[in-house]
Amino acid sequence: MQIHDFRNAVLDWFERFGRKNLPWQIGRTPYRVWVSETMLQQTQVATVVPYFERFMARFPDVHALADASPEEVIALWAGLGYYARARNLHRAARHLVAHHGGLFPATLESLRALPGVGRSTAGAILSLGLGRRAPILDGNVRRVLSRYAGLEGWPGEGRIERELWRLSETYTPAERVADYNQAMMDLGATVCLKRRPLCDVCPVRIGCTARRLKLTDVIPAPRPRQGLPVKRSFMLVLRNGKGEIYLERRPPAGIWGGLRSLPEFGSEDDLRAWCARRLIDLARLERLPQRRHTFSHYHLDFVPMVARADRLLPAVAEDGGHGWFRPAEAGGLPAPVQRLLFEIDGDAARRSRQGPLDL
Ligand code: SF4
Repeated sequence: MQIHDFRNAVLDWFERFGRKNLPWQIGRTPYRVWVSETMLQQTQVATVVPYFERFMARFPDVHALADASPEEVIALWAGLGYYARARNLHRAARHLVAHHGGLFPATLESLRALPGVGRSTAGAILSLGLGRRAPILDGNVRRVLSRYAGLEGWPGEGRIERELWRLSETYTPAERVADYNQAMMDLGATVCLKRRPLCDVCPVRIGCTARRLKLTDVIPAPRPRQGLPVKRSFMLVLRNGKGEIYLERRPPAGIWGGLRSLPEFGSEDDLRAWCARRLIDLARLERLPQRRHTFSHYHLDFVPMVARADRLLPAVAEDGGHGWFRPAEAGGLPAPVQRLLFEIDGDAARRSRQGPLDL
């Protein structure tokens, strides 16, 4: 297919089948595009929709987000996962207010200078939010272009990625760029599916190399598998007689940064020493089976240790970070911690108003 045939086919398809009523497409602004694109990274549309609506109700614009506390932003992100995205949104909002008067700069370089904004998100803000010609390359567009061009290899590999950006740049039109980019994302999400793409109804099937060569099940190639390293830790589930759990605020940087979680230790000896200093009865310390939680870059094998301490630790600390909490009132907890508490005390966790942070 010629380039203009490809564009026209995609745009015609969008007219008939593209998604036009997603919450971030209604009253579209650069801010709404930015928040939705950030939420949609590694997360399905159906999951994102209620989070987006809650987020917009509380933070309708950049200024509202910049004025919020990090804890408020975290709480509204609870359950979406990849918590660094929320921290970056918040930092970027403050940067926009401080340096751009709360407006989005209209250049790729300035947008990419914002925390958490990569080339594709910047392209989405420019094209969908500001109507500027800018290519995008999210996971859906990568899949469509990889197959269409017959690019074998993992799309994250430098050589393949450069070629995909070149293709995206080439095919992106100057007119109707917002519709075109939305159409490419929709095409990947609804037709060029990861497994069993619906090639018979695809608008670009005539020119598609993967379809012609029957390579749709091997393009795009998966990320080369590497053995993930394993980290080990011990987590203390310290309970009192009121059904509360002792939680600590984790440092802002790092895994589960800024969230409340169980006290975590590198060894059982460290955990026992911490308990002994607080006169916690070590004879009643109960060791539960080891659990595994897998992050994108390592496995965390952790051993929960359950103890009782009714009167030995202070109530909620003044900064609200450390102290006794009912799981239902703790705000967003990391997913594996929420699951653990659910299993230990199903009723308390079931009453939780906050979903887990699936990190
Ligand atoms: S023809 Fe099939 S493999 Fe090719 S882009 Fe369309 S849906 Fe994807």
